[in-house]
Amino acid sequence: MRSGGRCVLCNAYLLEGALSARTLNLGELAHIVGQGVGARSPRGEYPLDPGLRDGADNLMLLCERHHGEVDAQRALDVFTVEQLRRLKREHEDRIRHVTGLGPERATAVVRMLGSVHGRAVELSRETAAEAVTAQRRFPLFLESYDRHGVEIDLRQLPGERPVEDVVSAAAGSRAYYGHAVRVIDEVLEHRLRAGVERGAVQHVSVFGFARLPLLVYLGARLDDTVPTEVFQRHRAEESWRWPDESGVSTRFEARVDQDVPAGDEAVVVVNVSGAIGRDEVPGELSMLRRYVISPVGVATGPDILCSRASLGCFEDTLRGFLALLEAEAKTVRRLHVLPAVPMSAAVALGRAHHFQVHPQWVIYERLAGSYVPTLEVGRSAG
Ligand SMILES: [Zn+2]
Repeated sequence: MRSGGRCVLCNAYLLEGALSARTLNLGELAHIVGQGVGARSPRGEYPLDPGLRDGADNLMLLCERHHGEVDAQRALDVFTVEQLRRLKREHEDRIRHVTGLGPERATAVVRMLGSVHGRAVELSRETAAEAVTAQRRFPLFLESYDRHGVEIDLRQLPGERPVEDVVSAAAGSRAYYGHAVRVIDEVLEHRLRAGVERGAVQHVSVFGFARLPLLVYLGARLDDTVPTEVFQRHRAEESWRWPDESGVSTRFEARVDQDVPAGDEAVVVVNVSGAIGRDEVPGELSMLRRYVISPVGVATGPDILCSRASLGCFEDTLRGFLALLEAEAKTVRRLHVLPAVPMSAAVALGRAHHFQVHPQWVIYERLAGSYVPTLEVGRSAG
């Protein structure tokens, strides 16, 4: 039982035949210190009371092949008592840990794969599984529909790559976003929501690599009632695991950057991975009340969100900002959002938006050097 039905050395499952698929007991109990004390008993000369040699602490569950190998005369210098005890302990500790992850540690994995400036990243099921496992969770792929699970694949959509001049880039983006939004809605509606409604999904893990407005949209469309964790791809590590688990976090603040009375519209500039200058705010927004969200005490940069704690602080600041907006700018019906943020923060932005409560958001994107409106989230002002 401590071994989980698996070979200590190769992790093969030993209660089923690989060819017949029948329930078979293929495990063998191998002695660490040999059962006999004579020279022909592998490791039998090791000082251990013969009465303890058949005890569980001196036995390992192995497949037939590895049982043969550890007992082979010519390999006994490799398979010492100390070495086998260590391997047994590591395997049994791992089985105990992994089988301790009860149903409450399950998480439904949502992956959105697009390309950004013609670039895509590796985001397979295995990659996502590895990242959630590092958080002591195990992945559910909800694959009753197909083997991809909840996968939003935008890579084949026409117009994924923006063109260089701003007018055609904006037109191309609008068409592209129109298609992409339908794909996002379709996958979430048919694959994720069904799981949430029948109670199979109690937690969601989100992995997104796509253009920022689509990540905001994805975040806004995710169910508010299910706890959700957003993952980030870290460039330096080329990994979706959080590199910094220290719990030390970057703090953020929201402040008024242009203090004019709020009318129907206002602007928020979100400077996290980069800083959008005042001169980059589009001219038609220049007279509006404007807010800025930015890190405290550190410069903006692409790797600023290297811990879950920092993303959590960013989310807290967003919620604080939206509460402030509700309190001091009740008249705002449209909020123009200019994000320079890592992808996880874009999803978090969308998550903070509540359809019933908040004004419509207009998400801007930098296309051919200028910020242009590309996608709207929430009901229209009319
Ligand atoms: Zn084996």
